[in-house]
Amino acid sequence: ECTPNKGHSDRIRVYVRIRPISKKEKEVGARCCVKAANGKEIYLTEMALESDYLRLKRLKGRYFIFDGAFPENTNQEEVYRTSTEQLVEAVLEGKNSSVFCYGATGAGKTFTMLGTMKDPGVMVLALKDLFAKLKQRSSEGEHSVRLSYLEVYNETVRDLLSPGRALVLREDLKQGIVAAGLTQYKACSADEVMALLQQGNQNRTTEPTRLNETSSRSHAILQIFVEYSARVGVSLVSRTGKLSLIDLAGSERAIATDQRTLRSLEGANINRSLLALSSCISALVEGKKHIPFRNSKLTQLLKDSLGGSCQTAMIANISPSNMSFGETQNTLYWADRAKEI
Ligand code: ADP
Ligand code: MG
Repeated sequence: ECTPNKGHSDRIRVYVRIRPISKKEKEVGARCCVKAANGKEIYLTEMALESDYLRLKRLKGRYFIFDGAFPENTNQEEVYRTSTEQLVEAVLEGKNSSVFCYGATGAGKTFTMLGTMKDPGVMVLALKDLFAKLKQRSSEGEHSVRLSYLEVYNETVRDLLSPGRALVLREDLKQGIVAAGLTQYKACSADEVMALLQQGNQNRTTEPTRLNETSSRSHAILQIFVEYSARVGVSLVSRTGKLSLIDLAGSERAIATDQRTLRSLEGANINRSLLALSSCISALVEGKKHIPFRNSKLTQLLKDSLGGSCQTAMIANISPSNMSFGETQNTLYWADRAKEI
């Protein structure tokens, strides 16, 4: 359980990553409407769409500052080092931390979190780094690393490492909220993990209408448990840290940055877990005592990893194309609000 919010130093760190413009976007005449500068700044320029070409005007430019702003050409390693490396350190100290990728479908969340075999993302780079750091500490005591990879889809929790029936969430006195029967894979090196995670990602729910394409409403959560134990004199010292790496569902249908909008969306066919996460973040931003973790499966799972002394990083993914202007703007507003925690 997290201790109450201690203020500024423990707030969520918020990063924005712009993906490169795609071939398809170029083909249809998309132009860039967003720019990263000086490592932390994002400039958003509203441009008329192709159909308004003759009236092309720059309107309502906006400027944001984040903890980090990654331009199109930023590589995976740099994203990992800036956003997540310090959280891996925290987990080694027995703390819980989490990293989210947030953004519209197609904005680059899965690329950032999972990546490809050739160009692995934050999940794999974090594990690689974790094993390297453990090697340096091997004289200090015993460490073990266990992995769980799960999906929340339509308020159903499933094991991505061992697909099958829906899992039930239970409150465990020692471990907090756990999914009963979830696989805990004992990992010994990062190399074996990439294929495992790619396979797990294949097990995510697909949209009935678009075979082989992961549903934009599916959240994938990789939990990395690091257990440490050592003998000090006659007593045994042990601690466990948990790092949760989350590839969230597409945000395009669940944009709500305040409680009123959230309420008006209730009942609509909207991703409940994403809305609940927004509510929890709003409550944390507002310094509320009660954080509504119980409202969804995702927030129940993250209860011990969000707020308080937990470190959290949010990577907001955006497309540079002016055709995604609305989604990009919403994502940036949401990210701008999250950083106030
Ligand atoms: P999301 O998971 O947010 O729906 P994806 O990660 O699947 O989006 O990205 C959409 C497409 O853009 C994919 O083909 C992906 O490989 C590509 N892509 C995303 N981000 C990058 C990047 N930083 N560099 C190169 N290609 C990227
Ligand atoms: Mg994806």
